[in-house]
Amino acid sequence: MSRPPALTDTLLDTLHTRVCASTSDTYTSTEVFTGGDLAVLPSSTVTDVHTAYERAARAQQEWAARPVEDRLAVFHRFHALLIRDREILIDLLQAETGKSRRDAFEELCEPALVTSYYLRTARKLLRPKKRAGLLPAAIKLTELRQPKGVVGIISPWNYPFALALGDLIPALIAGNGVVVKPDSQTALSPLFGADLLYRAGLPEDLLQVVLGDGPTIGGAVVDTCDYIGFTGSTSTGALIGARAGERLIGCSLELGGKNPMIVLDDADVAVTARSAVRGCFANAGQLCLSLERIYVPDAIFDRFADAFVAEAGRLRQEAGYSYSADIGSLTSQRALKTVSEHVDDARAKGATVLTGGRPRPDLGPYFYEPTVLTDVTPDMLCHASETFGPVVTLYPYATEAEAVSLANDTDYGLNASVYGRDLVRASQVAARLRTGTVNVNDGYASAFGSTDAPMGGMGASGLGRRHGAEGLLRYTEVQSVAAQKVDMLNPPKWMPHGAYSRFMAASLRLMKKTRLR
Ligand code: NAD
Repeated sequence: MSRPPALTDTLLDTLHTRVCASTSDTYTSTEVFTGGDLAVLPSSTVTDVHTAYERAARAQQEWAARPVEDRLAVFHRFHALLIRDREILIDLLQAETGKSRRDAFEELCEPALVTSYYLRTARKLLRPKKRAGLLPAAIKLTELRQPKGVVGIISPWNYPFALALGDLIPALIAGNGVVVKPDSQTALSPLFGADLLYRAGLPEDLLQVVLGDGPTIGGAVVDTCDYIGFTGSTSTGALIGARAGERLIGCSLELGGKNPMIVLDDADVAVTARSAVRGCFANAGQLCLSLERIYVPDAIFDRFADAFVAEAGRLRQEAGYSYSADIGSLTSQRALKTVSEHVDDARAKGATVLTGGRPRPDLGPYFYEPTVLTDVTPDMLCHASETFGPVVTLYPYATEAEAVSLANDTDYGLNASVYGRDLVRASQVAARLRTGTVNVNDGYASAFGSTDAPMGGMGASGLGRRHGAEGLLRYTEVQSVAAQKVDMLNPPKWMPHGAYSRFMAASLRLMKKTRLR
């Protein structure tokens, strides 16, 4: 076993107890830096998913009945524990994903920010709201936010802690139980997150973790839960959306992207190049928000390409549990295969490799160099499909309108970036892009880290939003309670129906004129 310093036998035993699994079946995850074995973990069955749902549903009854204030107390404590035990979490994250320590630290910021955001806002968002009743004197109308019940969360391997915890925390705050199915390779960090929540005082059984393959165990989660929050590929998201539709349950789908960046002609080339390498190569490009296409004005193309290639060449790529690396490894053989295929295909069809373009087995089994391409044409795999690795293509453009049109020429619509000195102009270009988030003079962190703003995808990049009010309210059902104080919707006994309808018609006219209803 190749273990990071923090993964002791005691911690592993604790994490085992957090898995809902009834048989002795197990699987082994991989320590990505070496390709060696990392941890033996229990496998759940479909029956275990049903058990998980029933346990969470029972615990949810009492949890939903608690005042929001009481529920929030757990998350105050969770936040403190998360910050205190961060180095353990970072070890686990690095071991199971191969990311750099810097990227692992950035990852844990998401659930911390989500938690503190809903600690500030959930009370107001979930509070009963007075609405205008049909007849003001007669009907008192209240809008309530009821929890969905048990929310299923299915999450991918690239940000296993951020995406599982960041999405399940608001579901719990809204009064739901949760069954979470992380990717099997990256289960240690979400299990650690579940353990932190229980240590913070979450009621026993409210949060269930099931582990197993996507179609079987993930499918069983989709088939049992009352709402599904899914993050992963567009192809799986479409299957899950269809299945949720058959069951008439709601879903949010956070899917893939082929994210563009536009350099405007007034951009500071050196500053832009330095900033953009992070937008392209953070987490070795395995970030749904990563920039994979950069559009550069003809007039500054060569200057920008030189500066960008120089910045990419300065990135320190290495294995290990210290903060010395800028970027780490790809997470799996599958990811390495896709990245290699995209670059080899582009090279074979005439693309130019400005830098990178090779695996780095000397660093670890799944490492791949930061790679910059030009002369990419539509017949190449990397032109329109998501590479999900450290590969970016530079394209020249002649006019701003052409740049916007090229950036929007995709089925995806997740994230985009615009760089320019004139913020007003850059923001106007940003508003013309069909993506859920756009960052001006940044790659992704400004929009993603701003938890007050909804975040998600248009088109093939998904449905629904995390963060902001939407990120909490998606886990609730709206219920309108209309309490009639006096019966004014039926004619009094002595009034004929004809006279009553004339009276009501006059009332409708008056209420419109006085803007009362
Ligand atoms: P994936 O769709 O293969 O798997 C995601 C999760 O779904 C895993 O837990 C997997 O086990 C499970 N799963 C797979 N098939 C399933 C099925 N039939 N039913 C139920 N569950 C199933 O995606 P991946 O390769 O793990 O993740 C990478 C993709 O995720 C990329 O496309 C990336 O852009 C996207 N992503 C999107 C966001 C976002 O916020 N929009 C964030 C991170 C990753």
